[in-house]
Amino acid sequence: MDVHVLVPAAGSGSRFGGNTRKQYIELGGRPLLVRTLERLAALPQVTAIHLIAPQEDVSFCENEIVRRYHLRKIGGVILGGSERQDSVRRGLLACGAKDGDIVMVHDGVRPFFPLDQIGHLLNLTCKVGAAVLAIPTRDTIKRVVNGRVQETLERSQLWQVQTPQAFLYKSIFEAHQRAHTSGFLGTDDASLVEWCGWPVAVLSGHPHNIKITTPEDLVLAQMLIDHGGEVK
Ligand code: C5P
Repeated sequence: MDVHVLVPAAGSGSRFGGNTRKQYIELGGRPLLVRTLERLAALPQVTAIHLIAPQEDVSFCENEIVRRYHLRKIGGVILGGSERQDSVRRGLLACGAKDGDIVMVHDGVRPFFPLDQIGHLLNLTCKVGAAVLAIPTRDTIKRVVNGRVQETLERSQLWQVQTPQAFLYKSIFEAHQRAHTSGFLGTDDASLVEWCGWPVAVLSGHPHNIKITTPEDLVLAQMLIDHGGEVK
């Protein structure tokens, strides 16, 4: 059984602003994306990593990210799509995984995922078919429409879901194909598996496993590096 990692990094970074896409911004001397890819390559369970890049950046990623930083285990750079879901689907089609393999999907802009939890995540995936990292929500969450609260959700049941998310290749490929055919768009990969009616297990993530989305997140990320707050 091989473990393939798909790293969607084909977003435009429109919420970040500026000229450089957020995945290439340097953090402590190395681009954010390089940090994520190096951390994934260090996992002994991982067989191959497939980087999914914006169309116009494929050769930049091959030369300035993969070759320049001598990244290991890179299976290839795959052309992304217009939505994150399209990018992952293209990755699933191109990665060369087999039915019995595991596919882990991990955002290119989450350089601090907890290394300690990956073994557990993969074991759970073998048992359940799909598993995600998540942390309990600290804030109260309300559903709001047009500036008016519709309802307050039961906080004890709410979790903030992170990546990596891991799946049996057969299940996630089937879920993506069905969603594509039906025009169903989810905000993460597990939601497509849920939509098919299949189980998804939840494992504790880490509050430092942030998705770098805005310039404020980058400040937080730099603080984590400076103060040794990177999770093990
Ligand atoms: O936009 P969002 O914050 O959900 O992006 C999460 C990850 O998915 C980022 O690493 C981003 O580059 C990637 N993405 C992608 N293809 C898209 C949109 C986002 O690979 N079309």
